[in-house]
Amino acid sequence: MLVLKGIPASHGIAIGKAFLFGSEEPPATRRSITETEISTEVMRFEEALIQTRHQILDIQRRLADEMGQEHAEIFNAHLLVLEDQSLREEVLGGLKAQLVNVEAIFNDVIRRHLRAFSRTNDEYLRDRTADIEDVRKRILRNLTGRQRNVLEQIDEPVVVVAHALSPSETALMHKRHVLAFVTDVGGRTGHTAIMAKSLGIPAVVGVEVATKRIEKGGRLVVDGTRGEVVVDPDAETIRRYEVEQRRWQEISRQLLQLKDLPAETLDGRRVTLSANLEVPDEIPSVIAHGAEGIGLYRTEFFYMNRTDFPSEEEQFQAYKTVAERMAPQSVIVRTVDLGGDKFLSPLDLPTEMNPFMGWRAIRFCLARPDVFRVQLRAILRASAYGNLKLMFPMISGLEELRRANEILHGVKQELTREKQAYASDLEIGAMIEVPSAALTCDLLAGEVKFFSIGTNDLIQYALAVDRVNEKIAYLYEPSHPAVIRLLKQIIEAGHRAGLWVGMCGEMAGEPALALLLLGLGLDEFSVSPIQVPLIKKVVRSIEYRAAQAIAQHAMGFRTGKEVEAFLISHLRQLVPDLVEG
Ligand code: PEP
Ligand code: MG
Repeated sequence: MLVLKGIPASHGIAIGKAFLFGSEEPPATRRSITETEISTEVMRFEEALIQTRHQILDIQRRLADEMGQEHAEIFNAHLLVLEDQSLREEVLGGLKAQLVNVEAIFNDVIRRHLRAFSRTNDEYLRDRTADIEDVRKRILRNLTGRQRNVLEQIDEPVVVVAHALSPSETALMHKRHVLAFVTDVGGRTGHTAIMAKSLGIPAVVGVEVATKRIEKGGRLVVDGTRGEVVVDPDAETIRRYEVEQRRWQEISRQLLQLKDLPAETLDGRRVTLSANLEVPDEIPSVIAHGAEGIGLYRTEFFYMNRTDFPSEEEQFQAYKTVAERMAPQSVIVRTVDLGGDKFLSPLDLPTEMNPFMGWRAIRFCLARPDVFRVQLRAILRASAYGNLKLMFPMISGLEELRRANEILHGVKQELTREKQAYASDLEIGAMIEVPSAALTCDLLAGEVKFFSIGTNDLIQYALAVDRVNEKIAYLYEPSHPAVIRLLKQIIEAGHRAGLWVGMCGEMAGEPALALLLLGLGLDEFSVSPIQVPLIKKVVRSIEYRAAQAIAQHAMGFRTGKEVEAFLISHLRQLVPDLVEG
């Protein structure tokens, strides 16, 4: 028995047989050609590109039908690779210069790009290597006539194990007997992880050695909550996980019964419990889990995998649909949080050394008011159809916030002149996710109606720990005294200025940490839809006074580990079911 550790990408436990997927490499054997054969090779290449394009369009159609347009659009990145003119030119140039067959030349060229991609610091671009790798194999298979349709052949429940799993491959698993998946590479924010969550299957990514250590047909336990994979578990381990699996199913069933009850402490303090939304497809799940609105609507999806910017009309329609479907509950739309180059063609290389600290989010928007204004117009117009709020990401100081508000004000005046309807009282908030903003909340408070704490970023900046680097993941501690001091300061400064303070980072969805946040006075928790009932249970199990005492006590510890152990011991007393095992 062997336990492999990875990154938890999608919650749940699965037990089943391993299905090793995609380890075979399509052959790209090298052979010399004569000058007269060049035109045949060019033709073969063009045909393979066309065939690949048809295959991808076909997957897109299937996905749009089965899962919605947003998921289908993930494949625009693949189509962009196929259309990349420089890739074509490099292949044609290579054919003439080297006089070898097109499989070999194409493979050399695309691998060069892949190597450059895998070295970049930009997490988004690194995640795109899976898309390019997928296109590489498809083209090679089409060139060599070797089709690999093993995923389509799955006819019994299996755990899919792969080096990398591209979105197109993940999509093929839809409605098949896939219990879970495990990959060597990948980050929490890759499209595959996002897909796994919406498919509702457990997934562990970034295991590094999964395909080396797991054998075909071997038995596995995948724990997507802890990010662990047990290889060849013994009977006792399987029994333990089966018990845990049943226990969780039963707990989830019970928690769902709280769906229509308020998130209120035993002594009557009510907090808002809302959900984070990536794509409008998830709204049924948001509603089914009893969330009170959307606390973070990430709008990056519109901007990714395309060479142009989304139009006002396209965005307006999407925001309007979400506003209408969630009304009268509120939806906080976050203006776009792109990193430098995230929206460019997949084969353009990033120019930034530190994209997380670079030309990102509000910095990009303020530098490109033309792009920013289009989004603001779309959000404002949609605000006439429901209860929208708006917030700006990555605010680092007062001037930035003022500048964003000025642009917003200008857009409102423009809409008024055009006699376009919008909610003139639209609430504006600032995300607090940069330490400089956290330390100057009192100064920012005058410009907004609420704060929403983005702990995913705040923790990485406060502790200098890259949030997607698995090597230093052990340092990424939400319970670190530095983090909880910052949180206390933000919440208190917000309250002193009469604002409500929410949190939309992943920390808000952790039951033990939720006790602390509740006690610190947090007003709103925005978590992934499946975590909503869990956090509601925690809030409904304690008196506010007791949570305040817990928070005060937690502030006195010297290390994050001590804080965590203390909070877990309280959670165990209050809701033992959530901690057992
Ligand atoms: C955060 O930083 O906590 C957050 C919610 O934003 P994102 O994860 O999109 O950066
Ligand atoms: Mg953030």
